[in-house]
Amino acid sequence: MIKIQGIKKSFGQLQVLKGIDLEIGKGEVVSIVGPSGAGKTTLLQIIGTLDRPDSGTVAIDGIDTSSMSTRKLAEFRNRHIGFVFQFHQLLPEFTAIENIMIPAYIAGRSTKDAKARATELLEFMGLSDRAGHKPNELSGGEKQRVAVARALVNNPAVILADEPSGSLDSKNKQELHQLFFNLRDKFGQTFVIVTHDEQLAAITDRTIKMRDGMVISISDSDKSEPAAGPDRDSMQEQNSD
Ligand code: ATP
Repeated sequence: MIKIQGIKKSFGQLQVLKGIDLEIGKGEVVSIVGPSGAGKTTLLQIIGTLDRPDSGTVAIDGIDTSSMSTRKLAEFRNRHIGFVFQFHQLLPEFTAIENIMIPAYIAGRSTKDAKARATELLEFMGLSDRAGHKPNELSGGEKQRVAVARALVNNPAVILADEPSGSLDSKNKQELHQLFFNLRDKFGQTFVIVTHDEQLAAITDRTIKMRDGMVISISDSDKSEPAAGPDRDSMQEQNSD
């Protein structure tokens, strides 16, 4: 589903990604963890085509995004990738259902079609009775669920989430985490989640640990395998998380 090869990225003199290779399968829920500054968000932005690598390739569903024009990339992103951020970023002047419908409009879908899909998603999120509420009339957990619904409205193959539960209390956090798995089971999406939340990382199918611009380990619930790379000091790495 997602194939990343040899990704390098620098900002000025600072090399933030030093050669990342990863493959993420369809329907996987994967977390990316690591200390602040490790390059997690930069990698997510590159997977999401919001930023371009200096070298290397990203393919989503077999489609190489690296050589696409900016205009094609925007179309591709809106159709194939959904984003969830730490802060919901809902538009305050629109209701919950209107916020969810916006990416569908941008993708050229009819009002009827967009509304039907948004209604289905609100129902799935248990938010049918909040459809007409504006963001300031919703709780933090509800806002974040609306943001997840918005990410899903075009039925993208991939959902990329950056600290999605970072602003939530523990009950809403757990509900949101469960929601990701329910969505994967119902709609078959692939989730890549950058998080500092150990509870979330522990329940994802695989955890990709980064440090200093490199992937230093990839683990699943059963085993932990050091990845190829110069830095394998796991004791120090655990302490710095
Ligand atoms: P955190 O857990 O704190 O969010 P992170 O692992 O997600 O950290 P990134 O946000 O990817 O880290 O940033 C990696 C490094 O790249 C940091 O040192 C950051 O300051 C730098 N960086 C990120 N974006 C830019 C940019 N647009 N211009 C310059 N430097 C940047």
